[in-house]
Amino acid sequence: MAKINENFLKLPGSYLFSECAQRTAAYSEKHPDADIIRLGIGDVTLPIVPSVIQALQTAVQEQADAETFRGYAPDLGYAFLREAVAGKVYGVLGCRIAPDEIFVSDGSKSDCGNIQELFSEEAKIAVCDPVYPVYVDSNVMSGRCGTYDEKEGRWSRVIYMPCTAENHFSPELPKEVPDLIYLCVPNNPTGTTLTRQQLKKWVDYANEHEAVILYDAAYEAYITEEEVPHSIYEIEGAKTCAIEFRSFSKNAGFTGLRLSYTVVPKEMKYGKASLHDMWARRHGTKFNGAPYIIQRAGEAVLTKEGQKETMEQVMYYRRNALLIRDGLLSAGYRTFGGVNSPYVWLKVPEKMTSWEFFDRLLDRVQVVGTPGSGFGPSGAGYFRLTGFGSYERTKEAIERITKTSDLC
Ligand code: PLP
Repeated sequence: MAKINENFLKLPGSYLFSECAQRTAAYSEKHPDADIIRLGIGDVTLPIVPSVIQALQTAVQEQADAETFRGYAPDLGYAFLREAVAGKVYGVLGCRIAPDEIFVSDGSKSDCGNIQELFSEEAKIAVCDPVYPVYVDSNVMSGRCGTYDEKEGRWSRVIYMPCTAENHFSPELPKEVPDLIYLCVPNNPTGTTLTRQQLKKWVDYANEHEAVILYDAAYEAYITEEEVPHSIYEIEGAKTCAIEFRSFSKNAGFTGLRLSYTVVPKEMKYGKASLHDMWARRHGTKFNGAPYIIQRAGEAVLTKEGQKETMEQVMYYRRNALLIRDGLLSAGYRTFGGVNSPYVWLKVPEKMTSWEFFDRLLDRVQVVGTPGSGFGPSGAGYFRLTGFGSYERTKEAIERITKTSDLC
């Protein structure tokens, strides 16, 4: 019998979103006329902006002509996109990132999940808790996380860094030194961020201990506050210790088109090994390049017109998030995030679990969110709502919540 990778069998089922969907479907079946509003979604809802559609159409047309047809893309990305990112994303921030340090890919989920392949099976990971589940699950698949404690919701070899209201969602430096530190800023699910000063502490710690920071900036476009950096490379010293992941999904609506990039600076050396060269080798072996048409669309996002149009969409989602946050605050809820993020994180009423609040919200006001406990043990007692819906439906959902007194 073929020997399988038994680490996959250790993974608990994909419980969170399927359980939310099941409970919602069961409610709908019982109440067929219920007008359910879904504020649990992490996907965008607005269409692709006109300047990007134009670039897509032009690129499609090029594929119809032998003169301009393109087959396999360069596996690390077309120069036009790598140069645009180097100049228009990093250059404007004052970060010196060379085009060949930028690796174009088909989504940050793949990049965040694949990056762990560069590290030993012995490598120890540290994650913020709660956080995007891909970081831990991809390491579990590679046998790096030990055993799972079902009751506690923890892996024995993972260093969890709690991010709660008590520490203002700023993780403390771990006592046991990890090899890999995953930071997601602005954070999914809490919607909170780190200031320049807070991030500097992490960069210094990683350099001191020769640890690697894996910095997921998927929600960077939502940052509004001056003291929150848009890239980890704004922090001195980051080029020797940090890999940054960026996506076109949440800033330009590419969740269906699929485009992202990862920055691996050439300075990242561990012994004789260069992470830049290793990632180039891995990418070249396992990936045949993001589609030409989509890379042209990504280039269009970075034009002046593209930036203007896509930022209008980001502002639309941000307005929804603020509406949720302000509405809940006025109704007496403790809320977090929503300022530099499409996500609003709230404390569920006293003595209720995240799942009890999910059921209560669905039953009393027909609003669906996501229980915080699904994002990690420290998410227990919290709940996530998102600004990715329509303004009108978001407004209605918040009115229903704030006008109903028996949710607690
Ligand atoms: N990183 C975080 C923190 C996310 O929340 C998501 C998607 O929700 C991703 C990465 C995935 O992005 P992509 O669509 O580029 O795969």
